[in-house]
Amino acid sequence: MKGRTLLMIPGPIEFEPAVLQALGAPTTSHVSPDFIETFGRAIERMREIWCAPSGQPFVLAGSGTLAMDTVGANLIEPGDRALVLSTGVFGDRFEDLLSRYGADVTVLRFPLGDTVDFEQVDRAVAASGYKLITGTHVDTSTGVRIDAERFGALGREHDVLTVLDGVCSVAGEEIRQDGWGLDVVLTASQKAIGVPPGLALVVAGPRAIDAFRARRSPTANYYADWEKWLPIMRAYEERRPSYFGTPAVNLVAALDVSLGQILTEGIDRRFERHRRLGLACRAAIRALGLTQVPTSDDHAASTLTAPKYPEGVVGTDLLPRIREAGAILAGGLHPEIRSEYFRIGHMGATNFGDLLATVGAIEAGLQACGHGFEAGCGVAAAQSILFG
Ligand code: PMP
Repeated sequence: MKGRTLLMIPGPIEFEPAVLQALGAPTTSHVSPDFIETFGRAIERMREIWCAPSGQPFVLAGSGTLAMDTVGANLIEPGDRALVLSTGVFGDRFEDLLSRYGADVTVLRFPLGDTVDFEQVDRAVAASGYKLITGTHVDTSTGVRIDAERFGALGREHDVLTVLDGVCSVAGEEIRQDGWGLDVVLTASQKAIGVPPGLALVVAGPRAIDAFRARRSPTANYYADWEKWLPIMRAYEERRPSYFGTPAVNLVAALDVSLGQILTEGIDRRFERHRRLGLACRAAIRALGLTQVPTSDDHAASTLTAPKYPEGVVGTDLLPRIREAGAILAGGLHPEIRSEYFRIGHMGATNFGDLLATVGAIEAGLQACGHGFEAGCGVAAAQSILFG
């Protein structure tokens, strides 16, 4: 396709043609037998992809922030104590959000580029009674990943609800919701799930549903109320018509197609593909002489890479040049270092060839900006991981 530019930002990503076709198909009734089947199957597929056989999926029209909002709306009552583990902008968002619902919020903010120190969290949780802890699996503003398995285990040990913001990780980074004891795992459609923006996706485990049922007062948020949506999700799964708010019919159809593709690839193979993409991208960036925001490769995300601009190169020069060379990348997002780094998304439909083309475009951009390196060394480093 002449003039095509690769969209390599950390969401929205490029989407598979079959997903886009489903989105463009004639809209049907939200209670037609075909759509009921599609929605019911999508709910079942979510459970498989989240590795959450005991979980309750919710699919709402909205973005990832709405998925986060459902947590505040349904699991917080005024005065509840909540602990937010922050490794970037999206962790901080939970502080503001939970406070709106009257939570008494404590934030553990980790140094920029560092991951969560669970020994510190363990001490904080042991010292005071929290109802709920939030963690951002991959903070898209820093490229830092937290240990989601340890996060779940900590929640079980202290009998505290764990909420994992998986907006930049679900279907890209390994997550075993039931096995790891995570109570809520949420995401949005436009990232590794592979569907254009517009769906908030949440899977709530039995402890989260029990906590919701034990509320003393109804939620103050009408649209996000699980009381309204639980019967709807159950009805679709049982292949019965139902209605509360009109579902995003075409997006749900596209979701079902994408979830089917994910299951065809196989969830373990998909995690491994993302792991290789992440390793290869970081190796390329290192070979080009650039440092990165995450302070260690061990906690760098597989779904995006966050390189720092080299000495003498600024984003307003570099990013347009990379774009001219064929790849759209994202600038910095974290307010403390916004102008010091950029972000490369590599998730969902991204294949090894896309990544090599992107590294090639980054090389072209760096060269045009006068950064010195051995031509081709980034591509070679990536290639040796992807095809070595
Ligand atoms: N959490 C994380 C980790 C994110 O990356 C994002 C979006 N970039 C959000 C939450 C918010 O999602 P949305 O923009 O879809 O509202």
